Amino acid sequence: MRLSTEERRTIAGFLKKIATRRKRDTRLRVMGFPTLFRLSVEEEKVLLKKFLALDPRIYGFKGVRYGAAASSVNLVMIRKEHIPKTRRYFSGGTHFLPRGVFGAYQKMNLAMTRDIGRRVFVLSGYRSPAYQLVVFLETLTERKFDLKRTAKHVALPGYSEHGAPKRQAIDFTTRDLGEKGADDPAFERTQEYRWLAKHARKFGFFLSYPRGNRWGVVFEPWHWHYRGNTR
Ligand SMILES: [Zn+2]
Repeated sequence: MRLSTEERRTIAGFLKKIATRRKRDTRLRVMGFPTLFRLSVEEEKVLLKKFLALDPRIYGFKGVRYGAAASSVNLVMIRKEHIPKTRRYFSGGTHFLPRGVFGAYQKMNLAMTRDIGRRVFVLSGYRSPAYQLVVFLETLTERKFDLKRTAKHVALPGYSEHGAPKRQAIDFTTRDLGEKGADDPAFERTQEYRWLAKHARKFGFFLSYPRGNRWGVVFEPWHWHYRGNTR
């Protein structure tokens, strides 16, 4: 798919509108397609539907399709998370996790805090397939509308572990990396990552995209998914 200058302009305008709304509507990350389309004018809708019809496999993505239905699981809202040994709170926006995954995440963080005095924070948890489309378009814009490069970094709606509660993904960050944690290769060099690499599996969390993975996705040290307690 090639995008005309006009279409690129339409995407930019649409994303600007969504970014403004995101500031006051914390539930945008869990919105369904009806909400997304309600926020769009006709030409934007046409374009959004074009992206929904895309098959990421033609861009080298070899991952799983989870389906683009909105989740009905019980989601916990995460807002401000306490930074160990301080009175401060980490504020990286509002995020959501299925209740069971949130419990495992908290348990893991308690163990990490006990071991190294540090913990991880959620930079992105559950994202509805409709919101995933927004994330995809934001990354596409950052990557100068190169679909192939974008598809290596972010999944199209229906193909993301962030929208699949049975294999729920979390992008972690640290107190030092803050909101820039995800997409930052520096995450691999943090104490928190080294701890996760050793212990996360005991709490049911697994690295989804190691170096040289077979899914056609870049190495993402911050992106882990939950597969139930394996202890
Ligand atoms: Zn992720």
